[in-house]
Amino acid sequence: MSQYRIAAIPGDGIGKEVIAAGIEVLDALAARNGGFSFEFESFDWGSDYYKKHGVMMPSDGLEKLKPFDAIYFGAVGAPDVPDHVTLWGLRLAICQPFDQYANVRPTRILPGIQSPLRDVGAKDLDWVIVRENSEGEYSGVGGRVHKGLPIEVAQDVSIMTRPGVERIIRFAFKLAQSRPRKLLTVVTKSNAQRHAMVMWDEIAEEIAAEFPDVTWDKMLVDAMTMRMTMKPGTLDTIVATNLHADILSDLAAALAGSLGIAPTANLNPEGTYPSMFEPIHGSAFDITGKGIANPVGTFWTGAMMLDHLGEREAAAQLMRAVEMVTADPALHTPDLGGTSTTRRVTDAVIAAVQGRN
Ligand code: ATP
Ligand code: MG
Repeated sequence: MSQYRIAAIPGDGIGKEVIAAGIEVLDALAARNGGFSFEFESFDWGSDYYKKHGVMMPSDGLEKLKPFDAIYFGAVGAPDVPDHVTLWGLRLAICQPFDQYANVRPTRILPGIQSPLRDVGAKDLDWVIVRENSEGEYSGVGGRVHKGLPIEVAQDVSIMTRPGVERIIRFAFKLAQSRPRKLLTVVTKSNAQRHAMVMWDEIAEEIAAEFPDVTWDKMLVDAMTMRMTMKPGTLDTIVATNLHADILSDLAAALAGSLGIAPTANLNPEGTYPSMFEPIHGSAFDITGKGIANPVGTFWTGAMMLDHLGEREAAAQLMRAVEMVTADPALHTPDLGGTSTTRRVTDAVIAAVQGRN
């Protein structure tokens, strides 16, 4: 029997609530399946840790995480700590050194979920957005001088390297090739950003030659927002820069019905370092402590983690359970227009994985 060691970092706000729910569900699934088990170790890093210690995670944090098979991450961000401190102090402090360069965000409209896209006649959508996760607009390079003065200057430098762009575009072509429609859209802004974005287009042309069976096209990011809303069925796998894909994937999550449903994997595809799995949503302090956070995104994230660990059947089993639950409007949390709670949704998914409903 395989035993997987998972580092759980619940983080802030509803991150704590949804990761607790996710661990319960994954443990129940493992017990039912019998072929594997989990050993979770929890780390209390995040904004509360920052208020006590002045840092979001300890200096040996990465060393602590290295031996784990995967990281199950909640959310970071608190109203009384600046966003760039929480983001750079924990999430990016893990993603970047662990070279989790491929951020993968599947989007589907799950059964029972109302999507604004139904209004344009879309019955369903099935996308995977691949976000470059190691460089680009979020390289952290830049500076600010003459703070507060009329001559103040601030600069964020977007860094794109040939190896960085090649590996993410190749990853996206491979992923597109593994999916039934073998369809890829490469998103840039190469009309206005005439250096790095033009390099993206050129590299896409080069790598496309390695994947003759993949149909692909290029799209400017502004036009892409229209295509996602007006012609969603024409898209399948999508690859974009760190910033562009960040924005497009929030749009995708909203089009799929709620931010509370969408999952993410931050992959180090070579397996040199652990990969990290997290729901797409943030810490959502407006609903923290109310017991109404939608845990579905965290469960779907758990299914992506199972898939990554090689437990394909268990991942599919978990998604079937999740879909049984979303199909029942009585089990929808308030973000989906219902009155259910994190507890009730979690219990229902556990019952479904155990075959009790
Ligand atoms: P962050 O700054 O970390 O991104 P945030 O406070 O901006 O966090 P998000 O979590 O990004 O909030 O989500 C925006 C809004 O969507 C929240 O205010 C919340 O009401 C809603 N929301 C997000 N996730 C969930 C969820 N899992 N369940 C229910 N509602 C959610
Ligand atoms: Mg937010």
